[in-house]
Amino acid sequence: MAYSVLAVTEQRDGTFRKVTYEILSEARRLADALGGDVAAIILGNDIQALAEQLSGYGVNTVFLADDAIFTNYSPEASSKTVAELVKKIAPKAVLFGATTMGKDLAPRVAARLDAGLATDCVALRVENSEIIARRPMYAGKVISEVKFSTSPVLASLRPNVFAVTKNDGSPQVQVEKAEIPVAQSDLKAVIKEIVARSGGKLDVAEATIIVSGGRGMKDPENFKILEELAEVLGAAVGASRAAVDAGWRPHSDQVGQTGKTVSPNLYIACGISGAIQHLAGMSSSKCIVAINKDPDAPIFQKADYGIVGDLFEVVPKLTEELKKIVEK
Ligand code: FAD
Repeated sequence: MAYSVLAVTEQRDGTFRKVTYEILSEARRLADALGGDVAAIILGNDIQALAEQLSGYGVNTVFLADDAIFTNYSPEASSKTVAELVKKIAPKAVLFGATTMGKDLAPRVAARLDAGLATDCVALRVENSEIIARRPMYAGKVISEVKFSTSPVLASLRPNVFAVTKNDGSPQVQVEKAEIPVAQSDLKAVIKEIVARSGGKLDVAEATIIVSGGRGMKDPENFKILEELAEVLGAAVGASRAAVDAGWRPHSDQVGQTGKTVSPNLYIACGISGAIQHLAGMSSSKCIVAINKDPDAPIFQKADYGIVGDLFEVVPKLTEELKKIVEK
């Protein structure tokens, strides 16, 4: 088979992350424009059953890198395995998620292949058989267009931006084994254990509704009112960097340039001024609601709905009213 695109999937504990389906859908669109097939690679331990879950997204072949070495993400083993597969099947493009894992893996693969990488892309297109990537720069102040002078083209896709397309006419997925060119004993570093935070909280990068708090929350205890609102809405709780730097919330909740990029259906910003670095991470949200006591706060320029008021009065009222609607 002639593969034009390789999609690098992401799964954790046997569940694909949402970005995987975005990568696959974009891989199919690119492959249609370039002419050729789509391959996908799954890295993990005991993952045979996962290949089936990728059917319907236009993938022709799934390469399984199934080994205990991939029980936890291994930068060295993963990058070597992906790079070797790229050398073997010679796709024109390799797509990653611009996620925590993708931000680590994609540059390592690029270095191994001596290939160019466009990170955090928000659009890809094919022009005269060439791939052109669009990516925000300077915290989203400008959008750059990137042409590649090396092959294959490597690109990481910003999560929650690319549309997921499921297609009944998708090909039957073939499953093949990926070669694993590295043994456990070769690894210079291994992740022994991942200690999850208690509570099984919803990740802001995956949530369809986010309630975020900033410096206006004034105290970590006050985030309780946001958690109550989030519970009614089935939302994740996010934070501005000011709230994270103050030690009120963990860094994994931070939205923005140096935090996570989110694009939920609904983003409710509470006591967040709307600094450019915060907007860089959430301005592509489908609907933005801002609650701020300062009518001149820049967040109102981005918001679809703005509530000028004290969040400590507004948020509990909102929770109360939404609860009534949900209970109905
Ligand atoms: P503030 O700007 O202090 O705003 C607090 C807001 O709360 C004000 O608008 C105020 O009117 C309102 N308020 C206060 N009390 C109430 C009340 N009772 N009711 C209603 N409203 C109230 N920031 C990020 O968020 N994410 C990033 O990833 C990020 N990365 C950065 C990277 C770099 C390189 C730099 C230089 C900065 C970065 N920042 C980032 C920081 C950013 O510039 C801002 O400092 C930060 O976003 C401000 O957070 P804030 O809006 O919570 O606080």
